Amino acid sequence: MKLTRLRLVGFKSFVDASELVIQPGLTGVVGPNGCGKSNLVEALRWAMGESSHKALRAAEMNDVIFAGSGGRPSRNTAEVVIALDNSNRLAPAPFTEQEELEISRRIERDKGSTYRVNGREVRARDVQLLFADASTGARSPALVRQGQIGEIINARPEARRRVLEEAAGIAGLHARRHESELK
Ligand code: ATP
Ligand code: MG
Repeated sequence: MKLTRLRLVGFKSFVDASELVIQPGLTGVVGPNGCGKSNLVEALRWAMGESSHKALRAAEMNDVIFAGSGGRPSRNTAEVVIALDNSNRLAPAPFTEQEELEISRRIERDKGSTYRVNGREVRARDVQLLFADASTGARSPALVRQGQIGEIINARPEARRRVLEEAAGIAGLHARRHESELK
């Protein structure tokens, strides 16, 4: 699966609907300080199911919603949509046969988040597993935070093994086994 588009409405500094077409070969985003580069990466991680507001530099999850600035009033909702090209049919069931997947997360102030895949409401867990199966996700090494390379080099062997499991695409299997052991 390939990330092809990212759409943001009301997420952090992206108050107006903004759509980015992700073309093959994109390796970086440049721009002046404070223009929203980190917010873009956080939007991706948020839509992939990040549940920790701290990991998104927010004091609470409501703070990912545009808070108002420069005379623009704050909003009460934020939405991020990730489009994935599934022409290689690697998406898990029941989405395997869909040519494209649109994964959306929407938050309403004080009411929490809802997730959808191609319009169908799903659990946060479903979205997290979908990305884990695709060797990516909000916490995966596919998205490299500042300082993360050093952390991996200095990590304990078990933590480093998790990085390798992500890369091998088996992190989703481990998460499912853990879930079934809890039941
Ligand atoms: P740098 O180059 O310094 O890393 P950056 O391009 O990564 O900068 P970001 O950290 O993505 O910039 O964006 C920071 C901007 O986003 C700040 O101006 C901040 O006020 C704004 N911002 C963050 N959260 C919100 C919010 N909820 N509502 C409105 N603006 C927000
Ligand atoms: Mg930044």
